[in-house]
Amino acid sequence: MVEIVFLGTGGGRIVTCYQTRNTAGFLIKTGDIQMHCDPGPGTLNVMKEMNENPFKTNIVFCSHEHTDHFSDVGLMIECMSNCGTEQRGIFIGKEELVDVYHKQLVEREVILKPYEEFEFENIKLKATPCEHDKNPIGFILRIKEEVVKKIGYTSDTDFLPELSDIFDNCNLIIFNCTRPYGKGLSNHLSTDKVINILNGINIKPELVVLTHLGQKMLDAGPRFEARKIERETGIRTIAVKDGERIKF
Ligand SMILES: [Zn+2]
Repeated sequence: MVEIVFLGTGGGRIVTCYQTRNTAGFLIKTGDIQMHCDPGPGTLNVMKEMNENPFKTNIVFCSHEHTDHFSDVGLMIECMSNCGTEQRGIFIGKEELVDVYHKQLVEREVILKPYEEFEFENIKLKATPCEHDKNPIGFILRIKEEVVKKIGYTSDTDFLPELSDIFDNCNLIIFNCTRPYGKGLSNHLSTDKVINILNGINIKPELVVLTHLGQKMLDAGPRFEARKIERETGIRTIAVKDGERIKF
């Protein structure tokens, strides 16, 4: 079974500064793997509140060096390495995201460019391209259980026509949908851009998840925006709340 725990569902500067929603990223758990994606401000307190154990994390993934994705990466590496007492865990990210001190705490540092892959135990992660400041990477995570499961994560990006091909045939796609329909901002996804990507996908996902919600998205009503996507694509869509879990 794969479990995704949405520790934080907020994104963008306003939501991050006001903490209208948590900005702690999400966990993906499968077998012995606990992968923490984009731990932003407040991660450790959120994990404590939600009874999630940061010492169990063995992979930290960071898509790019914006505060709401990156601020607590060093702290999560310190937890992963048992308060810095042992060299433990894997860091996955783009270019040079981690400072010298934290580099020496991980067992392995995996630097990926778009389309490059990393394999570990039952997972294979392929980095995906983004159109966004700081050139983030998203991913497609292929998890081998009794059946193969595929999770897509766009990270922060603008609409790119190739994303439809890239995220083809996923069970579930996590979109960082910062803005509501028609209120798009360059370099970010909005509801209409998500619809465009989904409409171009050949083998559609079973579930679309909206997270990394910005203030304008929260004002518009994330559930309402999710329903718009459902109506226009026929794909089940949810806008997650802090603490929400998906098991499949
Ligand atoms: Zn960003």
